[in-house]
Amino acid sequence: MGFNKKIAQDEARRCPQCATATCLPACPLGIDIPGFIRLLREGDTSGALEKIRQQNPYPAICGRVCPAPCERSCVFQADGNPIAIRSLERFAADHGSKKGTAPKIVSPQAKKVAVIGSGPAGMTAADYLAQSGLGVTIFEAAHRPGGLLRYGIPEFRLPQRILDEQFAQLKLMGVDIQTDMVLGRTLMIDEIFMRGFSAVLLAMGKSLPRFSELSGSGLAGVYYDTEFLHLLQAVDKEGALDLGRRQKMATPKTVVVGRGPSAFDAGRLALRLGSEVQVVFDGFEEEAAIDMDMLQEAKEEGIGMQSMQALGIVGENGFAAGVQCRKLDIVESQNGLSLQASNEEPVVLEAQTVVLANGHTSNDTLKQYLPHLKWEADGSLSTNAQTGMTSVEKIFGCGSITGAADTLVDSMVSGRTAAEKITKYLIS
Ligand SMILES: Cc1cc2nc3c(=O)[nH]c(=O)nc-3n(C[C@H](O)[C@H](O)[C@H](O)COP(=O)(O)OP(=O)(O)OC[C@H]3O[C@@H](n4cnc5c(N)ncnc54)[C@H](O)[C@@H]3O)c2cc1C
Ligand code: SF4
Repeated sequence: MGFNKKIAQDEARRCPQCATATCLPACPLGIDIPGFIRLLREGDTSGALEKIRQQNPYPAICGRVCPAPCERSCVFQADGNPIAIRSLERFAADHGSKKGTAPKIVSPQAKKVAVIGSGPAGMTAADYLAQSGLGVTIFEAAHRPGGLLRYGIPEFRLPQRILDEQFAQLKLMGVDIQTDMVLGRTLMIDEIFMRGFSAVLLAMGKSLPRFSELSGSGLAGVYYDTEFLHLLQAVDKEGALDLGRRQKMATPKTVVVGRGPSAFDAGRLALRLGSEVQVVFDGFEEEAAIDMDMLQEAKEEGIGMQSMQALGIVGENGFAAGVQCRKLDIVESQNGLSLQASNEEPVVLEAQTVVLANGHTSNDTLKQYLPHLKWEADGSLSTNAQTGMTSVEKIFGCGSITGAADTLVDSMVSGRTAAEKITKYLIS
């Protein structure tokens, strides 16, 4: 629900306004955190929003789903009660008055940049490029813009209307957004340059699931995380995904194998569709790769967690029936506590639906379509650190496809930096 005014002001007053603020350098975007909190204390919510917007064009998004590294650097972190900076940012975004943006007409003489992909990297780059007076068109493969913010993170964490507002704002800034345009399939680089664009920015993300080596991953009822979330959010909320309906089970069971945000998002969505959910990974609970608030919320909602090693998926008549797992024993040594495979017989966690969340990699389409692009050994698109350009003249890269970012804020920083470099290349 977000903070109300009283809770926000009480929380803002708790901030000690440190002489050397440790939270400040921890925000990748460089938001003046003590500055905006001071304005909130004084009751100036719109002033606080304006201050945040000097460094962050999308506070309503960050205020909901940023992993908030700033909070981990707060002086109160040691007591386990850091200032709730992210929630204060959300409060400012939701309650501060947004200055109406007058529609902007891009000068016909302005040089034009094509941004491929509309995730946080592409949308941030588009914002800064448009602010520099360049003509910007975003070409997006999906039906609706937003990248993983729309087709990965579920509605209950980031409402679609927030994204719609941000894209409406970009349109007012003169950014043209063309969806259902797939670079390398329905849109070609030559065509983009022939249409008068002076530079292309590749911000196509990295959302192809890393395929699993677990046996049984081809059974019906087994999904990869982004596929599962995408199907539920983009295609059909009415039951195309079986989730145990075939067997008419009163309480179907889902097992998610993985430890990152997509594992927990998939689990929480399955829970909302009436399934019991266990998230399985071979580590301690605190080793889940999500922030502690998200872990807490998942547990409060009823997500079960098992520190186990998944061995394979077992099936019946071609359908998933469970995940075979090995228990892990806690072992104490000089280095502290660790987990070790148990000698006990493996157990089977019953599941009609299994979601595999193994991490993501970039799609091969671009590699096949533009063979002159250079790629790093880890599969990331290679860019020049000074210029932001790829190995091909006039083509730049940013966001998770370049390996520069694994989170929303890092993608935004990467988009902003690319926009600055392109502006320098085209204008200075
Ligand atoms: C389920 C899930 C939950 C997450 N939760 C969080 C979280 O809570 N906090 C956080 O900080 N991070 C989270 N992340 C990570 C975060 O979403 C990513 O780091 C971020 O979205 C990457 O941004 P990006 O712009 O580089 O790529 P993306 O968001 O992947 O956007 C890339 C865009 O390019 C488009 N595209 C791809 N190929 C083409 C093509 N050929 N032509 C045209 N367009 C193309 C895609 O359709 C997409 O819209 C989560 C990720 C997932 C999967
Ligand atoms: S963008 Fe993220 S890191 Fe920066 S102040 Fe907001 S919550 Fe903290």
